[in-house]
Amino acid sequence: MKKVIGIDLGTTYSAIATLDDLGNPEIIPNPENNNKITRSAVYIGKDNAIVGGKALEASITEPKKVAKKAKIKMADEVVFSTKEGEWVDGKKGYTPSQVSSLVLSKLKDYTSGVKKVVITVPAHFAEASRTATLDAAKLAGMEAELINEPTAAVLHYANLPAVKISGRVLIFDLGGGTFDITIAKVKDKKVEVITSRGDIHLGGENFDEELIKIIDKKYKKAKDYANSNLKTLEKDLSSINFYKNKSKSIKKTCKILVKEHNGEVPNKLNKLIKLPGVGRKTANVVLGNAFNIHEGYVVDTHNLRLAYRLNLTNNKNPIKVEQDLVKIIPKKDWLDLSHMFIDHGRAVCKAPTPICNKCLLNKICTKIDVNKRK
Ligand code: SF4
Repeated sequence: MKKVIGIDLGTTYSAIATLDDLGNPEIIPNPENNNKITRSAVYIGKDNAIVGGKALEASITEPKKVAKKAKIKMADEVVFSTKEGEWVDGKKGYTPSQVSSLVLSKLKDYTSGVKKVVITVPAHFAEASRTATLDAAKLAGMEAELINEPTAAVLHYANLPAVKISGRVLIFDLGGGTFDITIAKVKDKKVEVITSRGDIHLGGENFDEELIKIIDKKYKKAKDYANSNLKTLEKDLSSINFYKNKSKSIKKTCKILVKEHNGEVPNKLNKLIKLPGVGRKTANVVLGNAFNIHEGYVVDTHNLRLAYRLNLTNNKNPIKVEQDLVKIIPKKDWLDLSHMFIDHGRAVCKAPTPICNKCLLNKICTKIDVNKRK
C-alpha cells in the first residue's frame, strides 16, 4: 500500500505527516533537528534558499531577504521583493506560490521522495488561493489534492475508535496567522461542511502585534510605567509568564530610570546591572541589541552548555565562560553567535538529549554523544 502523505502548509508553521502501519497519523519530523513543525519562512539568497528556523536566523543579518506569511498572500498579485524586504506589487520578485513551493520542497525532503500529497487549506480559501497552492505543489515536484482544514480535523476526530459523534460540530481553528470557524455535520463518520468563515489577520501573531500596540500607546515612556497603578500594569501584562514579578520589577526599574537616568535606559554595563532584575546577561543583551555596544558576551544557559560541549571553555561559571569566549571570538560576532548558540541549543544541542547524529557541528564537537557517556 502506498503511504498517504498530508501537509499542513501554514502561515507561520508547516508540517508533514503520514500514517503509521496501524493507520494512525504521525508527523514526520525535520531530520536536521527533530522538530515536528517547520517555520514557513524562506531566506532567499543570491544563489541559495533556506527554509525554516535557519531562515529566521539569517534574517538577523539580512532581514530583507526573508519571506514570511506567503499563505495569506496566495490570492494577491504580489511578489516578495528581496530589495524591499516585503510583499509588493510588481514583477521582480517571488510570488507567494514560488515561496510556498520552497517550503513544500523542504517538507518533501523529510520523506523518501513523495510525489502525491494532500494539502490542507482554509475552508474559506478563494479559488485563486487554491490554484496558487496547487501551483506551489507542482513547482515542488508534487501532485496535490486539497482538503479543507476543518474537514481534515473533523474527519480525524470522527474516525477515532473511541469517538462516537453524530450531528453538528463546531471547529475552532486559531492558528499562528489565521483564525477559522466552521460548522460541519457528521453522520456515520462522514463529514459535510455546512459553513465556514475565517479571518486571515486574526492569528496568534496578530494578537501579539495588537497587544504590543496597546502597550506601546499606554506606556510610551519610562515615566508611564513608573507612575502606573501596579494592579493595572499586572492586568496589562497578564499574558506573559511571571507577570506579577515582572510588573513589579518594571515599575521599580522605571522609577529608577526616571529619577537617576532622566527616563532613559543607560548604555553602560555598570549602570545597567544596578537596575532591579538586570544581571550581566540581560545587560549585555540590552547593550548589544539596543545600542550595538558589545561590552561582553551573553552567556545564558544555552551558550554555557554549547561553549563547554564545543570545547571553547573548561569553565562552568558564566563569568569565567564569558572571559574565555571574549578571548577567542571576534567582538563583531559576539551578539550573532550568542543568538545562534541559543537557537542551536534549543533545537539540536538540547541539555539532556542532544541530537548529535543530526548536528552540523558533530565533526568538530569534542563532546559528541555526551549524554551517552558514563
Ligand atoms: S555534536 Fe552533540 S553535543 Fe556536540 S554540539 Fe552537536 S548536538 Fe551538541
